[in-house]
Amino acid sequence: FVVLALESSADDTCAAIVSSNRTIHSNIVLKQNHIHQIYAGIHPHLAILSHTEQMPFTVRRALDTAQMQMNDIDAIAFTQGPGMGGCLAVACNAAKTLAIALEKPLVGVNHMRAHALTVTLTNPEVPPFPHLTLLVSGGHTMLVLVHSEDKFELIAQTADEAIGCTFDRVAALLGLEWGKRGLGAALEHLASTSDTLDPSITLPTMMPGQLEFSFCGLRAATKRIIDHKQRSGELSDRTRADIAARFQQAAVMQLEDKLARAVKECRVRGVQPRAVVASGGVATNLYLRTRYTAEAAHAGTGEPLQVFYPPLELCTDNAVMIAWAAMGRLLKRERDGYGIRPLAGWKIDMDRPQT
Ligand code: ATP
Ligand code: FE
Repeated sequence: FVVLALESSADDTCAAIVSSNRTIHSNIVLKQNHIHQIYAGIHPHLAILSHTEQMPFTVRRALDTAQMQMNDIDAIAFTQGPGMGGCLAVACNAAKTLAIALEKPLVGVNHMRAHALTVTLTNPEVPPFPHLTLLVSGGHTMLVLVHSEDKFELIAQTADEAIGCTFDRVAALLGLEWGKRGLGAALEHLASTSDTLDPSITLPTMMPGQLEFSFCGLRAATKRIIDHKQRSGELSDRTRADIAARFQQAAVMQLEDKLARAVKECRVRGVQPRAVVASGGVATNLYLRTRYTAEAAHAGTGEPLQVFYPPLELCTDNAVMIAWAAMGRLLKRERDGYGIRPLAGWKIDMDRPQT
């Protein structure tokens, strides 16, 4: 069973073709970094224009790369939400139009569930349910108990901004540029050039003792240090690298702290997670992966919890995960109506609205 999926919830225009036998036939991701790099974040209007321009070519490339025709496609999936309203509309319209014209089944997918389920496609050993999933991306920071492919229970989320957004803003404060891989990856690279975790750079531990994440205070404290070093003429390349490393350490330490608390919270709710998963753009960070894997080894009381990560290129936005997240419903012959609309605020634990 072959699915063509479209994704345009933020700043990547994506199309992919995936089979129910787990073959990824194509995975096209068109980044808009060059458009948004002069702004602090994604410029919504320019993002919509770029998705509108690129979507047809992205679909064409997905078919060409897979060496397929529309006849070979059994169903169409798209990201229904959450995301930026106008951006979501582009993939939604393209998918609906293709589906109704070609009389193919159509399914709308929750983008965050798709990030969470990527590991069940890519990892030879599928993490057993229920598992505890950390979703760390540009718009979200969550710990979610995944009971099955269609049952998600929110355990913790951020009280203020998302960790990916904090990485982006701190990277910009440090004078980094989007480049090909984006600000977060640039910050990771800068931090990797620091050879000390300079103890004179002190950053706060946020919301200790609580399940909720918080990153605004950490960003403000990092900004104060950068401003101070700049005023005193000490903001050398080396100092910038040291600040990046300390910031990254503080941010990841918070993730570790909340993981241990979340495992306890699951137990209070009567569930013992059998594995840990991390996904979303920030989960490409190799420092995070090393620390998180170590933390999970003793976060549970019994057996060490194994951590599963998607391959790096499928942590950030892509349409492969959208195709895969649609597969279960499609194989059960479920489908959505052709009048389906985007759901910009679709929460991960919210039931699918009737269409
Ligand atoms: P959401 O999925 O919440 O809608 P999004 O789709 O925009 O948001 P993703 O594409 O999953 O987010 O991830 C992008 C985020 O990941 C950006 O904020 C980016 O800075 C961050 N990121 C990417 N690589 C790294 C890295 N190596 N270290 C830290 N952060 C990173
Ligand atoms: Fe995403």
